[in-house]
Amino acid sequence: MRIDIDFDRCEGHGMCELSAPNVFWIDDEGDTQFVAEPPESERDGVEDAIAACPMQAIHMVQS
Ligand code: SF4
Repeated sequence: MRIDIDFDRCEGHGMCELSAPNVFWIDDEGDTQFVAEPPESERDGVEDAIAACPMQAIHMVQS
């Protein structure tokens, strides 16, 4: 699984972090960070984050 965030769309509110905190987090500067190739165990959380993102900024580029 490989994911990407469109930072032209991301507004950094962190809904993704609530869904999958091991994959997405907001750093001390307020920037969104993520694991580009999360383990299979994170799939449900990633799918929840994709659905929860209000900006549709998260994309699964390889399933
Ligand atoms: S939920 Fe979407 S818009 Fe919000 S921080 Fe995560 S990727 Fe960015």
